[in-house]
Amino acid sequence: MVTMKHEKNVVEPPCRMLPQLVSLERDSSLSLKMINIRSPQADFSSGPEVKTRLATASATSGRMAPERLQSDIVSIVKQENSKVRRRRGHASDPPLPGTHAGRGETPAADAVCSRNVHGPEETVMATKPTPSTAQVNAWEDDPGPAVEIARPAPDLSRQPLAYAFPHPQPAADKYQPGTAEFRYWTAAEALRRGADFWAPLLPVKSWQPGRTLSVKLDEGEDLNAFYDRQALNFFHGPGADGTLVFSGESPDVACHEMGHAILDAVKPDLWDAASQEAAAFHEGFGDISAILSALQLQSLRIAILNDTGGHLYRSSRLSRLAEQLGAAIRAQSPDAVEPDCLRNAVNSFTYSDPAELPSSAPASHLSSEPHSFSRVMSGAVFECLAGMLTASAADAKKPTEQELARVSTETGKIVIDAVVAAHVAPNFFAQVAAQMVQVSGAVNAAYPPVLRGVFVRRSILSLESVTSMAATALMPVAAVAAPAAQLALPGTRYGLAQPLLVQAPAQPRHFAITSGAPNGSSVQPPNALEAATAFVDDLFRNGRVDDQGLPASNARLVHTRRRLRTHRLKAEAAGVRLERQLFDCGFCCR
Ligand SMILES: [Zn+2]
Repeated sequence: MVTMKHEKNVVEPPCRMLPQLVSLERDSSLSLKMINIRSPQADFSSGPEVKTRLATASATSGRMAPERLQSDIVSIVKQENSKVRRRRGHASDPPLPGTHAGRGETPAADAVCSRNVHGPEETVMATKPTPSTAQVNAWEDDPGPAVEIARPAPDLSRQPLAYAFPHPQPAADKYQPGTAEFRYWTAAEALRRGADFWAPLLPVKSWQPGRTLSVKLDEGEDLNAFYDRQALNFFHGPGADGTLVFSGESPDVACHEMGHAILDAVKPDLWDAASQEAAAFHEGFGDISAILSALQLQSLRIAILNDTGGHLYRSSRLSRLAEQLGAAIRAQSPDAVEPDCLRNAVNSFTYSDPAELPSSAPASHLSSEPHSFSRVMSGAVFECLAGMLTASAADAKKPTEQELARVSTETGKIVIDAVVAAHVAPNFFAQVAAQMVQVSGAVNAAYPPVLRGVFVRRSILSLESVTSMAATALMPVAAVAAPAAQLALPGTRYGLAQPLLVQAPAQPRHFAITSGAPNGSSVQPPNALEAATAFVDDLFRNGRVDDQGLPASNARLVHTRRRLRTHRLKAEAAGVRLERQLFDCGFCCR
């Protein structure tokens, strides 16, 4: 028998038929109640006297041995008795986890739970949630690695950068992975954390759609997610092991999509720019957003520094993005993603003029498709992050997690300031990179050489551009950005009877520098017409344009592989306008 003197009501689990009923309650004056496991399907229950739903776990099967369940109950009671004693007698008790809301965090606030979600399920207890102490369970970075953490319940309505999540909102509590409540809160926690990271670094205080951004957690079947200037949209699809994968459950995916919304808020000109490099930069920024948002977790910073021995630029679960979604996509399309994730920011891709690249390629090769080409920039920024950490750490061989936190914020600031200043011109990568070099000098004098080294090695900046940069080339050649120009492309090229109207990347280049060619020289950037044509060609070749039934010519293309349409055609008096509808993850399964 298990003795629980302080409980008003205890029903010991019968040892032969599990699970049955385990009910624990506290005296109401102690503000703690727990009711646990009613049936194999019940995740939680609440009596009329229980004011708040209380989290439970492990009511899902009879796999747990009777001895294990009994042991868990004993453990829970010991923990609760200990808490009660502390509350009664020790005013100097340490603060409860999660009492530091907002951007600051304590080690306890994101303490990693020890539960192995792939192993035998265990019982989880929860205290009565209160506004200041309520916690939720969440993934640290992705359901693939499945590192679970407890975090303060996020305030989704907090400004700036508030969210509107689906209703009704489940009570903030510690739910089991696999439940809709867990998915809700892990998405909420990641998106709040990401927005709280970016908000102080932005020159704006609202999203492009307004002060509140909608989040739609499950919009149907697709291995995808997208941002459409109205909401962040997530889906579900078949996983590699036969289970369902919910894209919104991955903090990596959520913070990638949120990154599109952040970039759109500060650089709306990129939305409709007919430019391969502008579109790829959007995707790269999404991955950078996922990485920097993850680094706001102290537990992850510690884990990654340990895993990499302090050498951040090594493949780790920080650099590997969306492992679970990647596995699900790999099961359907083996060469579409990395061997162990969707994309990896530790990569060796170097810049090539995207107009010279194929419009699609296996993940092992670079193509002009935006997600593929984005890896040049996300890899470079991740390498810059690692280099700045080494350059600024007190002990370069042993950077601390506090130093990593600082450098993550500095990286975010450098990227934001650079992209805001960069003109939307052909060879956009070089313009952003030059701005990053420029901006980084104001953050730390040790950073510009690090960034120049990374960008030259990646050929994002040519060697001759960089070597002349210090003296002359960083002098602005056009201080004021001109508004984006409208271009009319020949409609017949795309089966259209009218000209195709596009927003050209026609702002004057801010810096007279360019990316590097494979032979070490500088590339000759395309003009705006050439850049726009290459971009639109890719859209049509890859089936990314919703023609809205407009063209009915023999040149109309039918794509057997269904892809989300990122763009649509809209009839106007002067021609047919090409408009962006969304930025997505680049794959769908229907
Ligand atoms: Zn994206």
